[in-house]
Amino acid sequence: MVDNWKPNEEELEWTRNIIENMEINQDWMEGEMAFRRTGDATLALLTRTERAEGPAQRVAIVLEELGWGLDESEVKIIPDDPALAAQMMQQQAESWTCPSCDERIVNMDLERAFWDVQGSTYYVDESGERQPMDRWVVTLECTKCETGSSPVHLSPDDYFLVAGEVNFYTWWFFDEDGESWKARIMPPETIVECVDNGTLESLNVKHLGTTFQGNTVPPHMRGTFCLLVRAVIEEEE
Ligand SMILES: [Zn+2]
Repeated sequence: MVDNWKPNEEELEWTRNIIENMEINQDWMEGEMAFRRTGDATLALLTRTERAEGPAQRVAIVLEELGWGLDESEVKIIPDDPALAAQMMQQQAESWTCPSCDERIVNMDLERAFWDVQGSTYYVDESGERQPMDRWVVTLECTKCETGSSPVHLSPDDYFLVAGEVNFYTWWFFDEDGESWKARIMPPETIVECVDNGTLESLNVKHLGTTFQGNTVPPHMRGTFCLLVRAVIEEEE
């Protein structure tokens, strides 16, 4: 299907512009493919859908023309059927372990996750321009490590897979007095119900903007109404 396909100058230039500006270990999402820069002139194909076989072959040809190598040895192929794809990714997420010990992430306290921005990353917009965006990292705590505890960092997407929707839409944060809180998104119908039966006033419901109590609000929690409850941290003596 890509027999004898050759990229034109514009296509070569477009790709060169992206890959030469990537940092090592930075990811590049293109269509239904995810690449990572692994060296001075090497990329690895991390994932692609089944149907992205042709596009992936074309990227390989472009890279070859540019004198770059593409490592496809570890590629994960995602089924085209969204239900199968979700199932596959969830199964994989269940097997993830702490990088320092064998504890499975799925067994950790998944609700107690801390969101913060660690530097920035880039995405490529429709016109091929690189646009900066915050790199959000979700940190869990592994309490099975020999050191007693160690942080486990996940991307928001990976956290969603391993922790599920309810945890994903619950945000732990510290207020200005250092007290910990959980903000849980209230569905609009629940808010309407509370307004109707007059219980909204008695609940600690807040509308989250981009910042709240001195914290930058994670993007998926912005513009939502949340029920705030005090989070109890169980201290192990
Ligand atoms: Zn561990």
